[in-house]
Amino acid sequence: TTYNFNPGPSPLPQEVLDHAQANMFNFEQSGMGIMELSHRSPQYEGVHNQTIKQIRKLLDVPEDYSVLLLQGGASLQFAMSAMNFLPADQKAAFVMTGSWSEKAKKEASFYGQTYELATSKANQYKNIPEVDLSLVSPDTAYIHYTSNNTIFGTQWTRFPNSDQPAIVDMSSDILSKEVDWNTVDMAYAGAQKNAGMSGVTIVIVRNSLLDHASENVSPTLSYKQHDKANSLYNTPPTSAIYMTGLVCDWIEKNGGLKGMKQRAEEKAQLIYDEIDGSEGFYTGHADTASRSNMNVTFNLPSEELEKSFLAKAKAEGFVGLNGHRSVGGCRASIYNAVPKEHVEKLISFMKEFRSVNK
Ligand code: PLP
Repeated sequence: TTYNFNPGPSPLPQEVLDHAQANMFNFEQSGMGIMELSHRSPQYEGVHNQTIKQIRKLLDVPEDYSVLLLQGGASLQFAMSAMNFLPADQKAAFVMTGSWSEKAKKEASFYGQTYELATSKANQYKNIPEVDLSLVSPDTAYIHYTSNNTIFGTQWTRFPNSDQPAIVDMSSDILSKEVDWNTVDMAYAGAQKNAGMSGVTIVIVRNSLLDHASENVSPTLSYKQHDKANSLYNTPPTSAIYMTGLVCDWIEKNGGLKGMKQRAEEKAQLIYDEIDGSEGFYTGHADTASRSNMNVTFNLPSEELEKSFLAKAKAEGFVGLNGHRSVGGCRASIYNAVPKEHVEKLISFMKEFRSVNK
């Protein structure tokens, strides 16, 4: 057995893989695989519109928001959000909670002025910082947040309610819990962690914000253009969109986002309990109040023990437990599709390793 704890791309539900195996290469007995269908065909348009409908339903997206299916990954959204929503005489505020916030700010800086509104960098990004909204400068076009910090293992529970639009990178926790749309004006996420396979990026944007988007952006990079064309302006990543649709169906069958949240909390708690009960053998990176339910980051007493832990884990079928190359240590990514039994296997392994090495 392979126990896949990869941070993304990451496991898909077995039911989704089984369904894809049966249909992806012969879609509805048409003699054509999904990737062989014209994106202008009624068959593909059915898949496309159904996937958008399912995203809207699961996330309870309000009527006055548009759902777009784009390419370029979440990384392109770092730049594209600025190209579309950052006029020359305004600034974008960034709440810095890790490497992805840093990358988001850096990409945006090529298209306009940016500043840090809050940061936990001095605390090695162990916590979600307090945001003092009185520090938001009046010429702020939007505030950017990273809802779950894949590398450091921290997660927001709710976003500040500001007058300025909030743009949120939800790449590593989309579809794992409900979203309060009162506090989010635009959300975006690469699909490859919780929402399918790499290739498609989900963008959900409030229409009143979209109305203000720059007209001075090339059509391929314009949210307005993609919205007008129902994300069929150019060829969309058809197979990836198909997979996202299947993942949405699976989530719906498994209790929707309430079900996903409960599963995520249970799985994360199991690992945090082992960390907290290990008498200092395992130490969590994140401060307790900021812990993520998606990526559990931890260290062992020495780098040597970490190496040995990872090597032994690998030999027993665990994949992807090494921390990000920028921070080291260990990380278990436990997105929606990771079965609870795999987390239980990991706990047994952690207990065993601890008893032998303490
Ligand atoms: N944002 C977050 C929070 C991520 O975890 C990642 C990838 O791991 C990205 C952005 C980058 O996504 P992509 O590789 O789709 O550009």
